[in-house]
Amino acid sequence: MTSQTGDLVTPWSDTRVSLPRHLYVHVPLCSSRCSYCDFFSTVDDGLPEHAAVVGHTVALLRGWLTPQVRWSALETLYIGGGTPTVLGPHLVQLIRSLTALIPLASEAEVTVEANPESFTPALASALAAEGVTRVSIGVQSLDDSALVGLGRCHDSATALAAITAGVDAGLDVSADLICGVPGVSAEAWERSLRGVVEAGVSHVSVYPLTVEAATPLARAIEAGETLAPDEDAVVDGMHAAAAVLGELGFDRYEVANYARPGHRSLHNTAYWTGKPYIGIGGGAHGMVDGAQARALGLAPEEGGDIGRARYAYAAHVLPGDQLQPLSSIEHLTVAEAAREDAMLGMRMSEGISEGLAVRARVTPALESLVADGLVTFADGRWRPTERGWLFGNEVFSRIWGVVG
Ligand code: SF4
Repeated sequence: MTSQTGDLVTPWSDTRVSLPRHLYVHVPLCSSRCSYCDFFSTVDDGLPEHAAVVGHTVALLRGWLTPQVRWSALETLYIGGGTPTVLGPHLVQLIRSLTALIPLASEAEVTVEANPESFTPALASALAAEGVTRVSIGVQSLDDSALVGLGRCHDSATALAAITAGVDAGLDVSADLICGVPGVSAEAWERSLRGVVEAGVSHVSVYPLTVEAATPLARAIEAGETLAPDEDAVVDGMHAAAAVLGELGFDRYEVANYARPGHRSLHNTAYWTGKPYIGIGGGAHGMVDGAQARALGLAPEEGGDIGRARYAYAAHVLPGDQLQPLSSIEHLTVAEAAREDAMLGMRMSEGISEGLAVRARVTPALESLVADGLVTFADGRWRPTERGWLFGNEVFSRIWGVVG
């Protein structure tokens, strides 16, 4: 017999290890491939493939439910990709099947990533009825020529209609935007920022356009067919986002993320604050603590200094009922895990506590960053400055590089 939290109701004490309370699910399908993208996904092939993705994904989650662990109700579920919304009604079925295996906590945040061309009012309502609370829409720009250049398969009107569909269904709507797209003027960039807010989003993620190796964008730049993003324009775009979204009542709580009060992404915050999470699906990553790693067979049962384990699934889709293998498992010592928490925490406006800095032994690195104007220290917390966010790699590498 099992209780509400996955505990066996037995007269003896239960020594099983609890699974993480955050679940990420990767749906590796997209309507088409965007020119700049190096995420793992294949072009959607239609209904039989949708059913296969649902079956595969549910089987993967079942594989984590071994006798050595017990589940606790999920605090956050994030269905990402790829483009989960290409699954249409199968997406509702996927969520129903996953939450039949591990139920949601009563206040759980359930996010679905969506692309405008496959996010209809009917799907938005069906997802809301299934317990989805939040949709993260890949708008990227409200400039139609930029959307063509990025290889997006929707226009700005479709993007605005998707935001409206989410808002009308009662979902918390987030928009992803890309800054630094060549040919987009400062005015057009500001129109994108203001446009998504006017349409009703409560959260905005702003990413710089980056040129990833072996993408169509990288090849086009190499062939001289298109311009590379200009670094100054990217920095100006990030500054403009901070100014415009701040003026509109959005708080920048992470280097790339802005939210109205009460609308931060709890799932992504779990990543930045060192909470363990299970990730499933082709190319997905997960992170578990030492005890979970041992119970799940991701680390030797005994011995060794294992603070956490990070794993990744192979980035391909296997045919039939073959399950995705893990392609890598990395162990971090307890000290390395603390250092990683310190590094990730500096992505957030709250930064990290003095206690974590001491535990991670990164105080000297933080002091050197203060001297360079990249970090501040006040009220017992180390926080990144805006300059520190701009030079994030310097901040992260100095924190990670500390050994002692
Ligand atoms: S829709 Fe998203 S995941 Fe799919 S190719 Fe475009 S950017 Fe990549």
